[in-house]
Amino acid sequence: MEVPFNDLYAQYLSIREEIDEAIAAVIRESAFVRGRFVEQFEREFAQAIEIEHCISCANGTDALYIAIKALGLEPGDEVITTAHSWISTAETITQAGGRVVFCDTEPDSFLIDPTQIEAKITSQTRGIIPVHLYGQPADMDEILAIARKHNLWVIEDCAQAHLAEYKGRKVGTMGDVGTFSFYPGKNLGAMGDAGAIVTNNGNLAEWMTLFARHGGKGNHQIEGINSRLDGLQAAILSVKLPYLSEWTAKRQSIARQYDTLLSGLSGIQIPFAKSDRSHVYHLYVIKSDRRDGLRHFLTQQGIQTVINYPLALPNCRAYEYLKATKESKNNFLNATANQSKILSLPIFPEMDEEAVVYVANAIKKIALT
Ligand SMILES: *Cc1c(COP(=O)(O)O)cnc(C)c1O
Repeated sequence: MEVPFNDLYAQYLSIREEIDEAIAAVIRESAFVRGRFVEQFEREFAQAIEIEHCISCANGTDALYIAIKALGLEPGDEVITTAHSWISTAETITQAGGRVVFCDTEPDSFLIDPTQIEAKITSQTRGIIPVHLYGQPADMDEILAIARKHNLWVIEDCAQAHLAEYKGRKVGTMGDVGTFSFYPGKNLGAMGDAGAIVTNNGNLAEWMTLFARHGGKGNHQIEGINSRLDGLQAAILSVKLPYLSEWTAKRQSIARQYDTLLSGLSGIQIPFAKSDRSHVYHLYVIKSDRRDGLRHFLTQQGIQTVINYPLALPNCRAYEYLKATKESKNNFLNATANQSKILSLPIFPEMDEEAVVYVANAIKKIALT
């Protein structure tokens, strides 16, 4: 049996007619960049996550960059973010003119450790960017309390957590701004690059809209960038959005099956899901001290796995320059320890039970030997 890590073609086949019609409609109207399909998706997505403003853009990295620019950084300003994420979260801080300050994660949830944030705050700190990593919301109450106390802004990186909820609130609605990616493999994925920024702050929404589109037309108000969503992606996302709750429930159900089948196996740690929030399982990440051997065995059994991510960000070459500062490697003990243990198992809404059982049985075989 072959179990792919994800199967985007299976998702397409499940809604083929609607997708084909949506693509044809965009072509018929030549509504290729922005236009009514984009505006419609922005309205629908804002409604889905219960927020006032949704500004679409070219991808999730731009969404972070635009949000940071909107909140404003002066040279030397610092932004605190997690040591365990995709690099977009950190590189956009630098792009926007700030200095990256990494904070370690909790050992088991992989989320930024709120008890370690305050020690990172200096007179230069302006904001915090928590990531709802793998689909599990970060500790927003603690993070927002720290931000309030020190007068910092908060951007939620929701690229992996569409529709996830923290104590009944949707992610993206708690900080000043929330950013989303619709990269094809994300929980809500386009057929190319796409992203969005959400906020309840009208002034920020207006500025971000201008900035993402060359500062307006005619009498350009500011110098901006070109980060637009195209009509084909918007129309495809509008077709997929109504299915997102169902797909999310499917991911959660697969995660529960894995939890049951894998719990108690020696040397295998199932993901730690906090009880006061919903985890939307963009990724199902286990930990094992024998990760590389396990991964090799699964590959031999036809099971595709991924390591998200092989190096904690502070340990990447791109951030070697931080080691000259007070940020030493030892500050990221948990993120560093996890980088050699984590393994992402296949999980996607179209995955059937037989495949889940097959993956779990393969892991059992090696865990017992
Ligand atoms: C995917 C991702 C991004 C970037 O999104 P793109 O659309 O690929 O630019 C940012 N942050 C996190 C945590 C991501 O997983």
